[in-house]
Amino acid sequence: MRYCSNCGSDKIEFKIPADDNLKRYVCPDCGSIFYTNPNLIVGTVCIKNEEVLLCKRNIEPRFGKWTLPAGFMENAETLQEGALRETLEEAKLQVSDVKLFTILSVPHIIQIYTFFTGKVVNDDFGPTPESSEVELFKFDDIPWSELAFPTVIKTLKLFLEHGDVKVINETLKPRV
Ligand code: ZN
Repeated sequence: MRYCSNCGSDKIEFKIPADDNLKRYVCPDCGSIFYTNPNLIVGTVCIKNEEVLLCKRNIEPRFGKWTLPAGFMENAETLQEGALRETLEEAKLQVSDVKLFTILSVPHIIQIYTFFTGKVVNDDFGPTPESSEVELFKFDDIPWSELAFPTVIKTLKLFLEHGDVKVINETLKPRV
């Protein structure tokens, strides 16, 4: 951060404000303190007849890799609303029987992923500007080596291991 978004000052400092214990971007001219917080990513594991819906990414990062429909939460929506919105945007898919499934904290990249399970409602799901292909995969045919993100791999493994009978709260560490 180089300029204060409140007053335009170019004297932004990265320091611990009074009565705080973490470094923040602080404007010495107007006194504004700029807090940054983790990003929330919400998505779905959508099932039909023992098959799971995956999207082939038509955008960076991980262009061409397969992923569960998911994306950043918008302001003023609930977790579930965000997950269903992303699923509609990326796959033109509507979902029923929605249940909270995973809460995956990924502190080293400052992200939290939450996935919901659900059932495929409409059969006319398909490609979108964000997804070049949208397909149902038999569990045995999931393209593990072509999946986009560790959180997607983790969520699919947890689903195959546990089904959707409980909510799973885990932390993902950096790959070494
Ligand atoms: Zn300022």
